[in-house]
Amino acid sequence: MLTDYHLHLRPDDEGAAAEDYFTERNVDRYLEAAEERGIGELGVSEHIHRFEQALEIWDHPFWRENAIDDLDAYCGFVRTTPLRLGIEADFIPGAEDRIASLLEAREFDYVVGSVHFLGDRAVDHLGFDVWEDGGDPDRVWSRYFETLAEAARSGLFDILAHPDLVKVWGKARPYPDRDLRFYYEPAVEAVAESGIAVEVSTAGLRKPVGEIYPAPEFARMCLDAGAEFALSSDAHLPEDVGYGYDRAQEFLAGIGVERICVFEGRERRLEPIG
Ligand SMILES: [Zn+2]
Ligand SMILES: [Zn+2]
Repeated sequence: MLTDYHLHLRPDDEGAAAEDYFTERNVDRYLEAAEERGIGELGVSEHIHRFEQALEIWDHPFWRENAIDDLDAYCGFVRTTPLRLGIEADFIPGAEDRIASLLEAREFDYVVGSVHFLGDRAVDHLGFDVWEDGGDPDRVWSRYFETLAEAARSGLFDILAHPDLVKVWGKARPYPDRDLRFYYEPAVEAVAESGIAVEVSTAGLRKPVGEIYPAPEFARMCLDAGAEFALSSDAHLPEDVGYGYDRAQEFLAGIGVERICVFEGRERRLEPIG
């Protein structure tokens, strides 16, 4: 079994209109790409900040600009397709109850939990760059993985997305001097306690860092702590479905992972990879 659960039907481009992407024709392009690449389980997890209902959770200028779609229309549309229904939801500290109400009111197959923001600054978004005022790498990395730990422990999510996203810019931003395992530690502990699935995402291969998320060392620590893994490309276009899966399979085999998580109705089971 191969899966691609962390997919976006529409590009991140702000001008993109939902009605152009939430169409049978567009879904068919994703399904065809998946079939060609031998991916048996496909699901979509649109960004929560695309939906007007998200403003009940967080009032951030980036969300305000983007929150134009209707979440229930999206869920209804995905249910008319063979895709699994997911959502990529940010972890916003202090908004746990509001996130839970939004998620529990809909019948998702899985929820992908992400940390993109530290306070109101983003680790992966130039408009709100956390590094803009010369961020201290030790502080940024500590805070990122502590927030990731909180996200895992919140119990809101089934999959922990792109677990070391903080490295997205690669050498274009300062790296901490310490052994990176020092920063991973609190997040790995939270993964172990919560049982959340750890996403292996090939999206990092398409970003300046040019690496799979997470680093092999992070994945190894999670594995030693008893974690299970989910596999995704974070594609925003059909041509990126299953992107870099040869490398992802090598990566998983290299650390000794033989099974991946498959989701339905927020229940998970494990299937052999391949
Ligand atoms: Zn993301
Ligand atoms: Zn995504």
